[in-house]
Amino acid sequence: MEAMKLWIGGAWREAAGRETFEDLNPLDDRRYAVAARGTAEDVDSAVHAARESFKTYGRSTPKDREAWLLKTADILAQRRQEIVDCLIDEIGSPIGKANFEFEKGLTMMRAAAGLTRQVRGETFQSDAPGTWSMSIRSPLGVVACITPFNVPFIKTSRMTGNALATGNTVVLLASEFAPRLAALVTEAYAEAGLPAGALNLVTGFGHEIGDRLTSHRDVDFVTFTGSSVVGQHIAEICARNRTPLTLELGGKSPTLILRDADLAAAVPMAVRSMFLYSGQACIASSRFYVEKPLYDAFTETFAAAAGRLGMGDLRDPSTVIGPIISVRQRDRVKAHISDAVSKGATLLAGGDWDGNRCRPTVLCGVKTSMAVCKEETFGPVTSLYPVDSFEEGLSLANDTRYGLSSAIYTKDLSKALRYAEEIGAGMCHVNGPTIQDEPHIPFGGKGDSGFGREGTDADLQAMTTLKWVTVHVS
Ligand code: NAD
Repeated sequence: MEAMKLWIGGAWREAAGRETFEDLNPLDDRRYAVAARGTAEDVDSAVHAARESFKTYGRSTPKDREAWLLKTADILAQRRQEIVDCLIDEIGSPIGKANFEFEKGLTMMRAAAGLTRQVRGETFQSDAPGTWSMSIRSPLGVVACITPFNVPFIKTSRMTGNALATGNTVVLLASEFAPRLAALVTEAYAEAGLPAGALNLVTGFGHEIGDRLTSHRDVDFVTFTGSSVVGQHIAEICARNRTPLTLELGGKSPTLILRDADLAAAVPMAVRSMFLYSGQACIASSRFYVEKPLYDAFTETFAAAAGRLGMGDLRDPSTVIGPIISVRQRDRVKAHISDAVSKGATLLAGGDWDGNRCRPTVLCGVKTSMAVCKEETFGPVTSLYPVDSFEEGLSLANDTRYGLSSAIYTKDLSKALRYAEEIGAGMCHVNGPTIQDEPHIPFGGKGDSGFGREGTDADLQAMTTLKWVTVHVS
């Protein structure tokens, strides 16, 4: 099997150390691909190529950038089957999630093309007579894009698309679990004629080479999506160089279900927003607070629906539950379940495994001393909590260090709006699932879920800078 290479300065090349690593299919841990194991030297080369390219790419026209991005989107659309297959075989996505991710990622790329024409400044009236006063907006320079394993196509399209749209050049450090997906997107950019060095791909292990990238003095912005622990580490490194950054991190997203909720509508949405891609989603609904009059009915229907989720062939549309990505993550999911059960929680569904797949697991009787109550599990495990009132539900929903997505199901508009206002999260959905994302909305969180927002407008603000210019006309 030929090893995938790094894309630096418009050429595919082996890693400086000539080493490779195995990219495993999480379904059975068999080899899916082999990728170059990038080194610190390769990171330096990629940043150098991006910096050199910025000298011309940074002055490219919106028309050209729009054309490159639209062409890339067209090529990705033509290669849909390859990308969907990759999402299935490289990271274990069931076909429904793979199709959903493909559509969303493609939309992100197309929206980025529209962003090219939004890079603009303003003019101001001046207190000094005869003075033209204006702000001009410019790209920052080299943007480091670091992706997670779980939605690599969405994140790669959004991060690289928005950075390139605004005139920045990019070094993409791909998740070590999804190097092939990153290579597919890179090939599409190359085929679309994106200038050499504008996008550079480094594969390898983030814990080995990530610090070299985030601490590089020639990196002007870091956009990171991944775990809260790595995010904190990157924030500390960036603080030393005053490198601005966006952090999209983990979550423990709550859903509050009030007594007047439409149960028939809420349960399928709740199931999808918890178990899509086996709960390996930052915005998965990993905590449900249910008002007592509805608790038994919700518990029964939710646990039964979870138990019915398909666990067959990943290409069968009825399959929802696939494998957990890695041994480390499987151990974490197992530890959270056994910790909860050993401390007195009750399993209403699941808790056991079929190979690398964890059955959809629903817990009740969860206490704050249990890891599953407070920490991100990143697997198909959720907890149901009865609450006496809206106030108690809101207070428990806010009892977390995270703050990413949230939801409430109710017909009471004033309670829904109060929840939206008072929930400590970056996103709130009324009578809808916690899992929602669109290219132009401000996506992000607070606390351990990170800071800054992603989205076309948000990335435009984050990845460009303003300069005040005056012209004195006598
Ligand atoms: P991870 O933190 O293990 O890895 C993410 C990326 O960081 C990988 O590319 C990895 O190689 C790289 N990395 C590791 N150490 C690094 C370092 N020292 N410097 C720079 N990069 C380094 O996360 P993961 O397991 O791939 O993804 C799952 C996590 O991502 C979950 O916590 C999930 O909630 C979060 N996530 C958040 C969002 C969001 O938008 N908020 C979206 C998807 C996933």
